[in-house]
Amino acid sequence: TKVLLTGGSGFIAAHVLEQLLAKGHSVITTVRSEEKAEQIRKAYPSKSADELSVVIVPDIAKEGAFDEVVKTPGIEVVLHTASPFHFKFSDPKTELIDPALIGTSSIIKAIARSAPSVRRVVITSSFAAIMDETKGSDPNTTYTEASWNPVTIDQIYDSPATAYRASKKLAEKSAWDFVADPANDAKFDVVTINPPMVFGPVVHHLAGLQNINTSNARVVDLLQGKWKDEIATTGQAIIWVDVRDVAAAHIRAGLEIPEAGGKRLFTTAGLFSNAEIVEIVRKNFPEYKDKLPGPEVKGGELPAESERFKFDNSATTELLKIKWISLEKSIVDAVNSLKAHGA
Ligand code: NDP
Repeated sequence: TKVLLTGGSGFIAAHVLEQLLAKGHSVITTVRSEEKAEQIRKAYPSKSADELSVVIVPDIAKEGAFDEVVKTPGIEVVLHTASPFHFKFSDPKTELIDPALIGTSSIIKAIARSAPSVRRVVITSSFAAIMDETKGSDPNTTYTEASWNPVTIDQIYDSPATAYRASKKLAEKSAWDFVADPANDAKFDVVTINPPMVFGPVVHHLAGLQNINTSNARVVDLLQGKWKDEIATTGQAIIWVDVRDVAAAHIRAGLEIPEAGGKRLFTTAGLFSNAEIVEIVRKNFPEYKDKLPGPEVKGGELPAESERFKFDNSATTELLKIKWISLEKSIVDAVNSLKAHGA
């Protein structure tokens, strides 16, 4: 199958690319610079241009950014992962909302207009589009595939985390709204993948550990000794999933499970806490002893059950027929990959 994968240089997308190529699919992937394109080509020297082609789309926040690449003949499935996930912005509107929202709405429009062979579009959304940040510690809230974050565009200056969540919610919603409108006469359906915090091994090119993707940054902090005196708080997103499961979910939903069409997939393996991550690293990597907090150091525990939300993603687990990778395996594999990058 011919697949268009946006943002091929990302942490999650690199695993999607690896799994797609291993399954023999033909992939066109987009990145924003020639340097990143070259790194991907170098990672797969044996692939022909037909099997893997890397195309440069410099600015996904520009209307029409994907107009040309979607015209590549024969694309059947689009996996749209490119979207900013970091808090290093000064203006959330131009640096976060625009690339997320215009990126998603304009690729959808371009596909409808000029990619008649596309039958399915998978969007990498997030638990950020599901959770309601005013209910983070509400034990009476149960998140499912049907839950929507009520955040609005007016709240993007409240905090960087709120802005990020709004970017994911608004981008996802724009895709659903487009295919729901009969006037658009879309010939494809949409699936969204809504992962919470994603951990696991790094296979994409990393220009130094300081450029680690956001969700793995806490593991780097731990290995570098930043939690030695106090373990960082876990934060509101207390559920997680392994990157290889997220990648597999994109491929199953996009290419292998026809009935996934029209669904939001809440891919999560369960609860985690920073305290648990510390335990796992302590147990498996004695060589980091000097950098790790000792057993007496507090912090990073899960909130008590009476002070945390609930979730039910059984519909997604059943549809994907997936056995979620364990936290221990995910963290061990993440640390091993980071060691290879000098952590
Ligand atoms: P990365 O930061 O590693 O990947 C983000 C990707 O989007 C990269 O390919 C990046 O390109 C591209 N991108 C970001 N901003 C722009 C922009 N302004 N213009 C063009 N391309 C851009 O993070 P992840 O792999 O974690 O994120 C991938 C997707 O998964 C995102 O949609 C994110 O919201 C979503 N997600 C991630 C979670 C996580 O915990 N990791 C949880 C839930 C959802 P470049 O390499 O050039 O920077």
